[in-house]
Amino acid sequence: MNVQPLAHPDVSETARSLSGGIGLYVHIPFCETKCPYCDFNTYAGINHLLPPYLTALDREIQVWGATLGHPTVNSVFLGGGTPSMLSPAQIATLLSTIRETFTIAVGAEVTAEVNPDDASVERLSAFREAGVNRISLGVQSLDDGELQKLGRRHGAAEALEALAAIWDAGYTNFSADLMYGLPHQGMDTWRSTVERVIAAGPPHVSAYALTMEEGTPFGKQAADGQLPEQDTDLAADMYWWADDAFARAGLRNYEISNWARQGMASRHNTTYWHNVPYLGVGPGAHSFIGGYRFANMKSPVGYMTKVRLWEALDGVVDVLLREYPGPVADIDPMNARTEMADSVILGLRLAEGVSDLTFRKRFGVGLNEAYGEVIAQNVALGLLRFNGDGPDAVLRLTDLGRFLANEAFVRFLAA
Ligand code: SF4
Repeated sequence: MNVQPLAHPDVSETARSLSGGIGLYVHIPFCETKCPYCDFNTYAGINHLLPPYLTALDREIQVWGATLGHPTVNSVFLGGGTPSMLSPAQIATLLSTIRETFTIAVGAEVTAEVNPDDASVERLSAFREAGVNRISLGVQSLDDGELQKLGRRHGAAEALEALAAIWDAGYTNFSADLMYGLPHQGMDTWRSTVERVIAAGPPHVSAYALTMEEGTPFGKQAADGQLPEQDTDLAADMYWWADDAFARAGLRNYEISNWARQGMASRHNTTYWHNVPYLGVGPGAHSFIGGYRFANMKSPVGYMTKVRLWEALDGVVDVLLREYPGPVADIDPMNARTEMADSVILGLRLAEGVSDLTFRKRFGVGLNEAYGEVIAQNVALGLLRFNGDGPDAVLRLTDLGRFLANEAFVRFLAA
């Protein structure tokens, strides 16, 4: 087939080029039960679709491998949903498809999200043998009452056993994932959760504030007044108390909601925050590659139907997206302005901030030339600060900005 790629003169070489490798996200949209706060693209009661789903995933991976010219993959993230519902053999097959289709970088980070109720030593060891080398464990809370209200199927004791099992299975790289700002959660239970998680010694922790998402049972209950109004002051106290406790335990905050020991930051998620190319496969998965942002359709059945007949187009991402999009539903061609705003907003999430030199190398202009007025407004509001001068200058969130980051970010989007 004779197809001509579109030129994208306005996006940066970084956005187009795959020479630095990519991050690969694999979505597993299956859950045993649906938690009432969750708005991820996951479904309960469709487990019978798992085998044909894995076949479709295999095909999508191969289509992208050929279309992108088999680039190097620096990190793989099996997320969901509940990837730990897959058997070790299914994970081994999936990872071997990825290995055969892409070039996996030496020492690539391969993460699987795991629910505590799936985390026996035997199962985790088998995942490790299959090629997983990092676990992201959905602890959420170590208070049984809070876990029950969240609709989680595990209790605190199971979560602690899972953390021990991860060590026993030989993992040295894993994250304990927590939530705060929960309905009826008090400072006492949050402190106890944080202290006991720290005592389990994870090299990485994430802590996200609960948000009441529209369309979820929690969102509806909050709108109907059946859940207490969220106390943002208490949530802020929880955040800063945990930040301090993590720091004392050697877990440094490297992203607004993530803390890690030296060298243990999530490489995969850092790909997103550096706004460099990644590919997402599976229904609803997002990608940023070849100068486009795009997302697959959300329906697993629709996705499987479209993928079945999809063919690769060697080396021409834009023609594939434009003319033969298969399961891809939303396509957003990048332009320099949106890529710049994304790079600042995502980069500011990181404690390392956004270096003027790096920004200038990527976009040909400095931060102040691109966003002088917006930066000045945010600095005046105490949300951002510059460290250093000239090419050494680095723009960072202040402590206030870390908690009110979205207020700073919207100004870059509007600029
Ligand atoms: S287990 Fe995770 S992905 Fe599944 S419904 Fe609950 S929060 Fe959502």
